[in-house]
Amino acid sequence: MIKDNLLSIKNSIPPHVTLIAVSKTNPTQAILDAYEAGQRIFGENKVQELVDKYERLPKDIEWHMIGHLQSNKVKYIAPFVKLIHGVDSLRLLQEINKRAEQNNRIIDCLLQIHIAKEETKFGFDEKEVVEALQSEEFKKMNNIKIVGLMGMATNTDDESQIRKEFKSLKQLFDKLSAFNFQLSTLSMGMSSDYKLAIEEGSTMIRVGSSIFGQRNYH
Ligand SMILES: *Cc1c(COP(=O)(O)O)cnc(C)c1O
Repeated sequence: MIKDNLLSIKNSIPPHVTLIAVSKTNPTQAILDAYEAGQRIFGENKVQELVDKYERLPKDIEWHMIGHLQSNKVKYIAPFVKLIHGVDSLRLLQEINKRAEQNNRIIDCLLQIHIAKEETKFGFDEKEVVEALQSEEFKKMNNIKIVGLMGMATNTDDESQIRKEFKSLKQLFDKLSAFNFQLSTLSMGMSSDYKLAIEEGSTMIRVGSSIFGQRNYH
């Protein structure tokens, strides 16, 4: 099942788009099934779960932190995390920089941009992101690298709304790239909207339930 789902998604997306298998709440065996089908990049949204899975699973897996990250938990993932998707404040970036330095690493990060109508979604707005990137604090951070942007569209059936939000993120991405920030990664699209996201310029999709099935929250 997992293998078939994974391969059918992989075969349907263009080669410049990276697939993150979002394994949150799924057991290690499910991850191993995907691993055996060739998947090496997995995303989790809770620090504890990410650390547990990192310790128990093959070491050639790339682990992405895709959820909201609290500053006081950065230290637990700093030794191994490959990409942090949800960076939503300069303060968090400072903490990541500090922990990366302690681990002798440079950690790749995506800035999360607020594109949805919902108030609850985290992220910078356009003005804040430009300010952050131009700030003196940011320029002093030598152990982080901003490689792109991440966003989540409104949870709605209204395709035109979703498309509009993805378009706005892509526009900001192009604008910042033109400013010489050298962004390579635009993380947008999940199970329900990754096809739209790819049409609108996504280079990285975060897909969970379409690979692993519906999650059981208890
Ligand atoms: C859970 C999650 C996803 C994947 O959601 P699905 O609908 O299961 O594909 C993608 N991005 C983030 C930030 C998530 O928390």
